[in-house]
Amino acid sequence: MKKEKMDLNITKKMIITIDGPAGSGKSTTASLLAGRLNLTYLDTGAMYRAVTYAVLKSGVDPEDEEGVAEVVKKVNLELSGSEENRVFLLNGKNIEKEIRDSAVSNAVSPVSRHGCVRRKMVKLQRNIAKNGGIVAEGRDLGTVVFPYAHLKVFLIAGIDARVDRRATQLKSMGLNFSPEEIKQNILKRDSIDSTRTISPLLKAPGAMVIDTSNITIDEQVALAEKGALEKAEYLRGIGFGNKINKISKPMKFYYRFSSFLVRTFFKVIFGLKIYGKENLKCDENYIFASNHISNSDPPIVASSLNRKVCILAKKELFRNPLLAWLIRKYHAISIDRDRFDRSALLAVIKKLKEKESILMFPQGTRSHDNTLKELKVGLSFIAMHAGANIIPLYLSGSNDLLAAMFRRKKLELVVGPPIMIKGNFKSNDRKNDYRIISSMVLEEMRMLKGD
Ligand code: C5P
Repeated sequence: MKKEKMDLNITKKMIITIDGPAGSGKSTTASLLAGRLNLTYLDTGAMYRAVTYAVLKSGVDPEDEEGVAEVVKKVNLELSGSEENRVFLLNGKNIEKEIRDSAVSNAVSPVSRHGCVRRKMVKLQRNIAKNGGIVAEGRDLGTVVFPYAHLKVFLIAGIDARVDRRATQLKSMGLNFSPEEIKQNILKRDSIDSTRTISPLLKAPGAMVIDTSNITIDEQVALAEKGALEKAEYLRGIGFGNKINKISKPMKFYYRFSSFLVRTFFKVIFGLKIYGKENLKCDENYIFASNHISNSDPPIVASSLNRKVCILAKKELFRNPLLAWLIRKYHAISIDRDRFDRSALLAVIKKLKEKESILMFPQGTRSHDNTLKELKVGLSFIAMHAGANIIPLYLSGSNDLLAAMFRRKKLELVVGPPIMIKGNFKSNDRKNDYRIISSMVLEEMRMLKGD
């Protein structure tokens, strides 16, 4: 009983995402699950529909990005109503029925494709979920909006089941469409939603997949609820939501002491500031992935994390025996950056399986001008094979320490929330998952940078 209560306190802080194509059962599953766990239900499709309604009302062509951008600027969307019946108000007006109209259904995918629309919606969605306690459904929630969601569910279903469901949903709202009309609309939206370049419909690596074609609503909600409670139990075990940082893996004295010295040195001399320390509180081992701009990044970042980390270091650093001895003391693992260094990656995976944390700079080489370059595939390979979550980091100012010393530039490290990769099923398209993980981490680094 006591444990159940504790889990309830944890679920109240959780973010749960449910993604999938139209008619796969997202709205039903998400709203019922939110009801059972006493969380807020967020229908992001309704948000895109509301923007589309505003676009159509103003007579702008859904394909005209500039016109749509002008409309989006004036859109004010707020979540209103009771916990059981949340609705979005568009500029203060309830438009719940209008947004289900066929004109909106046909224009919503072209409108949702525009970057200006997505940026505004993602910001709003993150703001609504800033304290957790949410079940959000849509297309890109597990990959783009909440890569750090605690449970990610991906629903799939055969086309006939999806058409039937949409027809029933529309009927209950007093709207009648022929099955063929609904089918064509669903197929068209599927195609646009899955092939667009920004935030396409994708299954997040590690997501729990539920095929809802042949199961009852009760069964699909029960499966998602079971997944949520298992996650809550896991989060309780790692001290999620605790105020005190309690890491069970102790640091050796020399490591703790020298970390303290290095951190203090950078704080006092160069004004180092560390943000997002609350993301370091759980007793879980992570892959810390940082951007790389200077040779001083490894000591600055490693000493700021307040836990033991093994660092992936380029093999050239091991040529000098004295330096090699020293960095080995700080758990450096040699990696050849010019090729896919499988043996180094396997050594890292072994460390992660032994519950050690890893620090890596997945861009490979330093970027002197602060631009965030594409990430190498090694990071995703390690994360998937070790089943480890990734904490993205963004460091700035270390490439101009002189300016930082005179406080003309800021030396800052921002720690993001863990991107959840650990899942409960095996991937059947690893290559694709590697790509998705890389883009999720890069996107988060961009967010931390403030782009
Ligand atoms: O979920 P629903 O079918 O109401 O979503 C309507 C449309 O909104 C989708 O077809 C898609 O084009 C867009 N959408 C999106 N991203 C989301 C949710 C919905 O692009 N997260």
